[in-house]
Amino acid sequence: MAYMDGITCICDNGRTLEDHRPIVGDDVVSGIYRKAAALRGKRILHVNSTYQSGGVAEMILSLVPLMNDVGIRTQWNILTGEGGDFFTITKNFHNALQGQAISFSDDEKGLYLKTNECFSGQMEIDHDLVVIHDPQPLPLIRFYEKTQPWVWRCHVDLSNPDPALWEFLKNFVLDYDRMVISHEQYRRRGMPMEQWICRPAIDPLSEKNRDLTDAEIAGLLEKYNVPTDKPLVTQISRFDKWKDPEGVVDVFSRVREHVDCRLVLCGSMAPDDPEGWAIYRSVEEKAREFIEAGDVILITAEDHLLVNALQRASCVILQKSLREGFGLTVTEGLWKGRPVIASRVGGDTAPDRGRRDRVPPRPDRYRRVCLEDPAGSGEPGARGGAARPGRQGARPAELPDHPPPLRLPGHAERGARRSEHLTAKKRHTTPPIHLRAGP
Ligand code: UDP
Repeated sequence: MAYMDGITCICDNGRTLEDHRPIVGDDVVSGIYRKAAALRGKRILHVNSTYQSGGVAEMILSLVPLMNDVGIRTQWNILTGEGGDFFTITKNFHNALQGQAISFSDDEKGLYLKTNECFSGQMEIDHDLVVIHDPQPLPLIRFYEKTQPWVWRCHVDLSNPDPALWEFLKNFVLDYDRMVISHEQYRRRGMPMEQWICRPAIDPLSEKNRDLTDAEIAGLLEKYNVPTDKPLVTQISRFDKWKDPEGVVDVFSRVREHVDCRLVLCGSMAPDDPEGWAIYRSVEEKAREFIEAGDVILITAEDHLLVNALQRASCVILQKSLREGFGLTVTEGLWKGRPVIASRVGGDTAPDRGRRDRVPPRPDRYRRVCLEDPAGSGEPGARGGAARPGRQGARPAELPDHPPPLRLPGHAERGARRSEHLTAKKRHTTPPIHLRAGP
């Protein structure tokens, strides 16, 4: 399990790229070794704002050990926002980037910058590449002599951001050399840098996704008091308005008119998401009668094995999101061969990819297909069902999509650039980046 050493998250899980060979095959593994050879010994820094709860942490957690295993010295630092206000502001940024109309005062913007400035005092950067995730640490770039490429990886839906907020954040993004987004539709027009699309992926060997025995599943469900006498419908998601947990309760109550089943909403509380408990309480209020009858179960524990067991034990996995950066939970459900019903947002929703067949969560559909015949529900796709379960929908780890083809400067070169910077007394300049030739 990961733990913090100061501002650095230590997440050596002992897994290697070779462990993935039986799953992804020789070609993928060779391709990764080839790409990694060009970066061998380089130092890469990832910075985000939490090491648990949510897709960003989930991905970096598996990516860092794999990158180190192939010889790229990769470190992961966590921006610790001091006090609750910083994360309240950045959660509102997140909401406004996903389309909610919110205005921000100069004080809020000032606190956002100040927190980043203070954090920069705790973190030295002498790496060959810096990857900043999401808006929380975005302005860090302003507080360093920039002697290496910086990449901004945005995991939220950027298709319709609040214009005023985007104008504010764009000022920082413009200092970056690349943007990385999760979906074609999240491209921002008018940005000078390349915008890459990198589809997030899951780690098939993690506690979240590894195979579990029936006894392990039963033990985990018992530990968290989840009875299995009725078919389970599950949504695994932070308590977040974009995940629409109240909408899930509405759908469930309609299904319950026809089928006796049980809903589990499992969402741990992320330290950088201060809205979680308020949304939890509204869901609790809305589902009160079901909760008292034991037919809606709310769980806030952070336990990857529990998530794994719930996904495997469910007759239907729901992801009724209104907006999604990507939606790893859909991939996780498909990997486990479970029927998944997800809104057509985020993710890899292009119909020609044949990877994910997301549909609006229609209660009649999951009732008919999955719940009235739970014994056969592992194969709903074959029965005109709700999603295409199976491992074709899941891609293990995201390393193949993550070869930064930036020519990273060597130490001597970075030293020279640093002195150029100092001589010119000019901050925030962008060193040229060069595409690496070859595959
Ligand atoms: N997750 C978890 N425990 C929870 C809720 C979510 O481990 O109680 C994990 C979930 O399994 C997935 C990630 O958090 O790996 C959520 O990623 P996703 O892309 O679906 O949504 P995000 O939270 O990033 O918006």
